[in-house]
Amino acid sequence: MNDVHLVHIGNLTIGKGKPILVQTMYDEALPVDMKMAEALLIRIGKLNTIGCDIIRFSYPSKDDHEVFKYLAKASPIPIVADIHFDHTLALDAIEAGAHKIRINPGNIGARWKVDEVVRAAKDRDIAIRIGLNSGSLPRREAASPAHLMKDTALEYLDWFERLGFTNTVVSLKGSDTDLTIEANRLFAKESSYPIHLGVTEAGSVISAVTRSTWALGTLLSEGIGNTLRISITGEIETEIQAGVELLRTLGLKKKGIRVVSCPRCGRHTFDTIGFLSSVEEELLAIEKDLTVAIMGCQVNGPGEAKEADVAITGIGNAIFLYEKGVLSRKVTAQDAKEALLEAIRNAE
Ligand code: SF4
Repeated sequence: MNDVHLVHIGNLTIGKGKPILVQTMYDEALPVDMKMAEALLIRIGKLNTIGCDIIRFSYPSKDDHEVFKYLAKASPIPIVADIHFDHTLALDAIEAGAHKIRINPGNIGARWKVDEVVRAAKDRDIAIRIGLNSGSLPRREAASPAHLMKDTALEYLDWFERLGFTNTVVSLKGSDTDLTIEANRLFAKESSYPIHLGVTEAGSVISAVTRSTWALGTLLSEGIGNTLRISITGEIETEIQAGVELLRTLGLKKKGIRVVSCPRCGRHTFDTIGFLSSVEEELLAIEKDLTVAIMGCQVNGPGEAKEADVAITGIGNAIFLYEKGVLSRKVTAQDAKEALLEAIRNAE
């Protein structure tokens, strides 16, 4: 399938030839008042600086309307409303300015209810994600669960097209990585609609990142997928970081810092773990295409440091800073973070 089908979500466009975007889902209920909403807006801005392109919110009540409206208007990135069962909530979220809604037509109920949602999305010129999970598919015959997911997605797309709506993204997710890979491969063979990738209920950090990297990395390396979420039972910042790192590892996101850090061993005399976690968010927000090394002793530290654009090697409280492979100065552990960031700012 070589056709190009582009979808716009707020000010972003996804589809073949466009950047692959990182998405997360906010892990709390929407705020109950505007003061908290303002704080959330600041957090969304920070999530954006570390690589989040799109954020999704649960929309379980029309009481969320005003806060959602405020966020949709002020957010630096597109805002998605996640809707289950009640189509009037989808209509309400669209009215509030959602840039995209995520629905599973199969759990909305009567066909006319889905029709109303699609027509409202069309009138507002927003996107819809058809979100299919392996656990909530219609019961009927198919060659395999993956074929059932693919067939169901294609039927829903056909339905939407009959209503004149094509600004649609599809997701075919399961907690089983093989099923997720197979369903997306089958779909991509028959459709050019953009795909949002993810593995559902993937667990805590280690299992979620491992399983998602396997499934999403496999699909992305085959050219399948336009947005992604690494679903983690954990911090949303970690989800974003994992998504960005996956894209960088696959060469699908060029800009940004590539960190080389020593895993530590008995020789370490400098706390690389504590240092990296203290500086990690700042590094994620930097768009320069650089390799930064953080090394813990004099055995391998200087060697790795010479290969990096900017590096530090700690030997006790003495931290050696390297720029373009050359030792440039020595600072204390307390000053190391600022020295590293300054060297990165100066690097070309
Ligand atoms: S750089 Fe030093 S402390 Fe770090 S893993 Fe290598 S030998 Fe161990």
